[in-house]
Amino acid sequence: MAQAPKTSESGKIKLYDPSLGTVVVVDRVVKSDQEWEKLLNPAQYEVTTKKGTEAPFTCSFEQIKEAGLYQCVRCGTALFKAGTKFESGTGWPSFYEPVSPLNVLEKPDNSLGMKRTEVVCARCDAHLGHVFADGPRPTGKRYCINGVALLFVPFGAKEKYPAATFGGGCFWHVEEEFRKTKGVVDTAVGFAGGTVPEPSYERVCRGDTGHAEVVHLKFDPNVISYDRLLDVFWSIHDPTQLDRQGPDVGKQYRSVIFYYDDAQQQAAQKSKEKLAKSGKYKGAIVTEIVPAANFFRAEEYHQKYLQKRGE
Ligand SMILES: [Zn+2]
Repeated sequence: MAQAPKTSESGKIKLYDPSLGTVVVVDRVVKSDQEWEKLLNPAQYEVTTKKGTEAPFTCSFEQIKEAGLYQCVRCGTALFKAGTKFESGTGWPSFYEPVSPLNVLEKPDNSLGMKRTEVVCARCDAHLGHVFADGPRPTGKRYCINGVALLFVPFGAKEKYPAATFGGGCFWHVEEEFRKTKGVVDTAVGFAGGTVPEPSYERVCRGDTGHAEVVHLKFDPNVISYDRLLDVFWSIHDPTQLDRQGPDVGKQYRSVIFYYDDAQQQAAQKSKEKLAKSGKYKGAIVTEIVPAANFFRAEEYHQKYLQKRGE
C-alpha cells in the first residue's frame, strides 16, 4: 500500500502523465475546505472534501464508451483510463486499476465500523472512493469511485497538439520517419489495438496479444495537416501486405490507422480510397481504420531507437 502524505502537506510529488507517457514532478495542490467549497459544486464538495458517498446509479459515466481519461475533479490529475472501467452492477463507476499507483493513493479506513481501503487523489488528497478485492482480471481489484469526484476527458480533447496513431510494420522505422517530418512535435512507440494491458515487447512479439506495433504522435496542425500525415504514412510502408511488412511477419506488424475523431476517420477513409484508385499498387489496400484504443508505451530502449543508433 502506497503511503499517503498528510492533507496539509505541500511540496513536490511524482505523478505519471499518460499524455506524455512518462513520470513528471509536480507541486501538490493544497487548499482549505473553505477554498474547495468555493471552487466545487455542493455534491463534489461533499464527496471529495467531506468523504461523502453519492447515491448509486446517479452517475452518467456508465453511458460513456469513448476512449479517454478520468481525471480528478479538483486538480485535473489523471486517475483512471476509460479502458479499465467495467460494469460492476454496484451503481458506481468501477475500474480495475488506476493510471498509476503514483496518482491514486490507498489509505486504511476504519470509519463506520468497517475495515476498508480508501482511495484518494495523490496530488490534492480528494476522497475518491474505496478499493475492494472482488474485481475482475487482470488485477482482481475493484476501485469503486464516486462519479462526482471525476471529470471525463475524451482523448484528443482540449489538446494543443492533436494526436495521431499509425501502425505500419516495425515501429522503429515508422517512428523515425515521422520524427523527421516537419510539424510532428512528439513521437512515442508502443502497442495498441489489443487486449493485454501494459504488454512487454517480448509478449507482443509472440503475436497473441492482438496489439499492433504503433507510433503515437502529436502534431502541430498549423504546420502539418492530418491529410499530409496520411501521405507520409502511405509512403513509408506497403499497405497491401496483410499482417506483415517485409521480413516482419505477424499481426503485430499490420497496417492500421487509429483515428481519434470523425474528421480523422473520414480523412483516413478518403485517403485510402484515393491511394487505391491511384494505381500505385496492384493489390488491395488492407490497412485497417479503427477507433483509437489504449496506447501502451513500449520499453524505453525502443523509443527513438534508430535516432539513438544514428541511422
Ligand atoms: Zn486531485
